[in-house]
Amino acid sequence: MLDTLRDIIQEVNAAEGLGDALQIIVRRVRDAMATEMCSVYMRDPSSGRYVLCATEGLNADEVGRASLAAGEGLVGLVAEREEPVNLEDAENHPSFQLLPGIGEERYHAFLGVPIIHQREVLGVLVVQQVHQRRFDESDEAFLVTMSAQLAGVIAHAQVSGALQQEAVTGRGVPTKVTGVPGAPGIAIGTAVVVSMSADLYAVPQRETQDRRGELRAFREALGAVRRDIEAVADSLGNQLDAEDRALFDVYLGILDDSSIGREVVGLIKAGQWAQGALSQVMLAHIRHFERMEHSYLKERAVDVKDLGSRVLAYLQASTAEERDYPDQTILVGEELTASSLGEIPRDRLAGLISVRGSGNSHVAILARAMGVPTVMGAVDLPYTRLQDRELIIDGYNGTVHLNPLPELKRRFQQVLDEDRALSRDLESLRDEPCVTLDGHRMPLWVNTGLMEDVARSLELGAEGVGLYRTEVPFLLRDRFPSEEEQRRIYRSQLEAFAPKPVTMRTLDIGGDKALPYFPIEEDNPFLGWRGIRVTLDHPEIFLAQIRAMMKADAGLGNLRIMLPMVCNIPELDEAIELIRRGHRELLQEGVATALPPIGVMVEVPSAVYQARAMARRVDFMSVGSNDLTQYLLAVDRNNARVADLYHALHPAVLQALADVAAAGRTEAVPVGICGELAGDPAGAVLLLAMGYDILSMNATSLSKVKKALRNVNIAEARALLVEVMALDSAATVHARMERFLVEHGMEKFIHNPVI
Ligand code: PEP
Ligand code: MG
Repeated sequence: MLDTLRDIIQEVNAAEGLGDALQIIVRRVRDAMATEMCSVYMRDPSSGRYVLCATEGLNADEVGRASLAAGEGLVGLVAEREEPVNLEDAENHPSFQLLPGIGEERYHAFLGVPIIHQREVLGVLVVQQVHQRRFDESDEAFLVTMSAQLAGVIAHAQVSGALQQEAVTGRGVPTKVTGVPGAPGIAIGTAVVVSMSADLYAVPQRETQDRRGELRAFREALGAVRRDIEAVADSLGNQLDAEDRALFDVYLGILDDSSIGREVVGLIKAGQWAQGALSQVMLAHIRHFERMEHSYLKERAVDVKDLGSRVLAYLQASTAEERDYPDQTILVGEELTASSLGEIPRDRLAGLISVRGSGNSHVAILARAMGVPTVMGAVDLPYTRLQDRELIIDGYNGTVHLNPLPELKRRFQQVLDEDRALSRDLESLRDEPCVTLDGHRMPLWVNTGLMEDVARSLELGAEGVGLYRTEVPFLLRDRFPSEEEQRRIYRSQLEAFAPKPVTMRTLDIGGDKALPYFPIEEDNPFLGWRGIRVTLDHPEIFLAQIRAMMKADAGLGNLRIMLPMVCNIPELDEAIELIRRGHRELLQEGVATALPPIGVMVEVPSAVYQARAMARRVDFMSVGSNDLTQYLLAVDRNNARVADLYHALHPAVLQALADVAAAGRTEAVPVGICGELAGDPAGAVLLLAMGYDILSMNATSLSKVKKALRNVNIAEARALLVEVMALDSAATVHARMERFLVEHGMEKFIHNPVI
């Protein structure tokens, strides 16, 4: 069963559009289940009806015509109940409804299962049989498994289908794709697709004006790959038997001018750029091989893929282009990284879409810091086909709109204008202190990483840096920066803010932050080699970093060092001892620098329970609520599928936050917070009430939080906290906090404009 399932999924995955995909499904499922009829009904979003979209065994003329409403007929019943219906004799079921002309009357046995994606019923998959037959448990299990696996593929094919229809008819079909919110805000702009290197599936399609240049580049790349293959064959020399040698000849043959090469040249001559032409031709051949029954021929798909990727790699190297970015660029990629953000001028970047990742992935955090509306986890987006398209992204709700109708565009433009007006309003607060109505002063600090954050943070009135993510400059390079390089980077941070304090976190890699030159492959990266665990295992990296920090601090004295992901006391002791050792070495080398305050991040549950023991060893504590939420709730912060379970206002998280603040008070050690919750106006009010000493957030949130705290008095915030701590779900906490914001004239901070 597993093999059959895998085969079918693979074939459907390689289909060219929705129609093709559905046709493959009905044919292959009917054969695999040895039954006489298989059909798919898909939900039409405009009418809500389930329309017959592909069939083997019913009247094919009714495809696209026959339809049933939810709750109507057996298909409607499956959709409404969202569970399988298995009947020996369909006709005798009270819900049975015969659609005229469809040819269903001869069938008796019926098994229908819903196709559900992201909690939404997309359609219904049905098998039927002439003779009365009870489809048995294994049939049902097979169909349910099939449908669950196909749901994602179908959702993806639906959007691709809309784009394809447009290519044929010239009419854009308005299409909405749902991901998860990454950074708030609306962006209306033009897509620029960033592709992963040498990935045939991720090449954007583009037209070229320079056909000759593209042809030349293609021929050169082809020549280079031929030479590589010949060189490998030669170097293996007589180790190869005749059969293996023949394989190399096959390889060279595939690249031959009379074969695939000719097709690619044809497309380039028709106006495609070389990379697009290559990927289009190679993918068609790969699909062709993958569909073959014979396993030897199927395997050839791997060879074609390998060859195609090699040629593509040469093409990409030769055309490492100077891109022209449109004014309102929306950067789209499978997995955007900090370095992809660095490539584009800030004044042209309007928005970001990442197919992978979630709202607390680090690229989303950077986007929030930069104030760039972002949608993450848009898994159904056929992103390689979006180059140069106009898109709208709604970073509040995590949606992307293709081919928006003018009315929709107007409404989004309105929200965008309102957002801009709000930001202008808030700018006036820049030089005002963050003081509650009853005079409680709350220091507002910023989280930084990119150099650009510095100017913005200072402009917006930041009083210090609560978290400088040192891994960002590491991520932007192609090797570890040397101690001296690091010193210069850190010096510019420290100088920019001096005499305001700058909290530098030691390297926090692992999880979703992999350095390209130091790959960490793990099954469970968030529970694996992360943060302090990596640097304690590599004291040479750790020492170089803290030495660079302390050297950079010479003559300034505003450095604080902070340790990430500490989960036990021995780790903390060891790291502190290394910092002291580094400091002693510097003194011996004649560098006049003071031992900076050392702090620990509380971001794993064990640190919450040992907060007092940790506090006794450090000068300050800072809660990393992003990771703390992930680990307390067992919700991967990087996984869009579980994004709706990730709540920093979950009662368990709030309890942990209150406990850490209390532990710090008891030990007389200041406690700050540098997770994203600090930048949420509602979160900030609760943190104020809990007794946090410092809130550190992305620069974009500074004014909003200042406005919120200047609007409340601490007594009232404490009363609210007592009330909130008695609530038992994240939803009720959210609802209460929204009410609070409305009561205090801050409804503008609640963003829910689902359009
Ligand atoms: C956190 O986990 O809350 C935090 C501030 O660190 P990061 O988001 O960089 O993991
Ligand atoms: Mg963290």
